[in-house]
Amino acid sequence: MDVKLCPVGGYSEVGKNMTAIKAGDDAVILDMGFHLPSLVKFDESGNSRRNLSPAQMIKLGIIPNNKVLQSWKSSIKAIACSHAHFDHVGAVPYLSNDYKAPILGTPFTTEFLKAVARDERLQFKNSVKAINTSSSYKVSKDMKIEFITTTHSTPQSAMIAVHTKKGVILYTNDFKFDNHPIIGKKPNYDRLKELGEKGVLAVVVDSLYAGHHQKTPSEKIARELLRDVMLGSETQGNPMIVTCFSSNIARLKSICEFGKKLNRKIVFLGRSLAKYSTVAKKIELIDLFKEAEIVGFGDKIKKKFVSMNKEGVEKYLIVCTGGQAEQNSVLNRMINGHFKFDFCAEDSMIFSNRAIPVSPNIENRERMEAKLEKFGVRIFKDVHVSGHASREDLRDLVKMVNPGHIIPGHGHNKLVKPMEELAVDMGFKAGRDVHLCKNGKTITF
Ligand SMILES: [Zn+2]
Repeated sequence: MDVKLCPVGGYSEVGKNMTAIKAGDDAVILDMGFHLPSLVKFDESGNSRRNLSPAQMIKLGIIPNNKVLQSWKSSIKAIACSHAHFDHVGAVPYLSNDYKAPILGTPFTTEFLKAVARDERLQFKNSVKAINTSSSYKVSKDMKIEFITTTHSTPQSAMIAVHTKKGVILYTNDFKFDNHPIIGKKPNYDRLKELGEKGVLAVVVDSLYAGHHQKTPSEKIARELLRDVMLGSETQGNPMIVTCFSSNIARLKSICEFGKKLNRKIVFLGRSLAKYSTVAKKIELIDLFKEAEIVGFGDKIKKKFVSMNKEGVEKYLIVCTGGQAEQNSVLNRMINGHFKFDFCAEDSMIFSNRAIPVSPNIENRERMEAKLEKFGVRIFKDVHVSGHASREDLRDLVKMVNPGHIIPGHGHNKLVKPMEELAVDMGFKAGRDVHLCKNGKTITF
């Protein structure tokens, strides 16, 4: 019996991650994500996503082209989601209805999916099952899905092991090896090593930062960077504004803790911040968000600025969307005067993120920073660590799981080439054991 892997999306670009595994008559799909640059481009054209059919979204490159899975359709028995990032689960409400299969994810991921579907007024025909890490789901007599605890930049991320009669396929998009996570447990190294004793048949590796010669620093480092900026700078008498990825609940936790120490009133402004933090509250991941006022939508945000101005904005810690300088983000609207907020000299602006290194993002961020500089705002950049494993973490992963085959994932061939080079250094053979994939080109083990 052959085991096949179909790279549906995320192997010819960064984003729209989707992979399918088939063994005999059983198949599973791992992740169904958005291609965020295409989505942002469409949203900023002023058109509504609500009018788009899945076929149109595929054509626009916003979601993966699942037509390549047509012949596997009746075999698909589960859709497993690794974590709650849009580039991994954004397309689920649009594509999952094509399959008679349950949607699986950790409690945070599944609650997030339900919140997205509610917001977009979409409905799943599929059942949605929450599964904790360190547990399994029996797909069929011969196939099982196991969620393994890992760390990343959003909570309850899982590595997914697909157990087949011929061996285990391990899917690691996305992960980092964080030994001091702020929320949740350390990665389950013991389980990875246990799988490695027999050797996994193949591993799909998050290779986004395979070219970075380091071990990705822990979230604890980002926390200390934040502590230094927030508690160690003379910021009294001016508002403090922070932006970070809305999905990074651990980062938001640190921001809230330091905001509280500063005796600032904490307010979360923006739709995606409201969505992620409300989900975290709902599953009781952390209770600190009780301290923060969460305002998601435009009109209410407008009103909140009026009341903040009356009370004195200098009393506030404003946590808002806009770290990528998106047109519709709260930060951009504060700068362009859509919201009543007057930036003044020595206001603090903390970017607890990094501009995604693609040209529109970098240019938009530079323009945004130039405007803030004109106001005389204090800018604190790069108060951040990444959520993706670097080269030395990847080496450790390969050592632990002892794979027969390596599939570099989370990017096009040129970007993930350093993972192939690392694997070759470790004794694997390019083409035979290491496979640089293209979307839609199935490989057989
Ligand atoms: Zn991710």
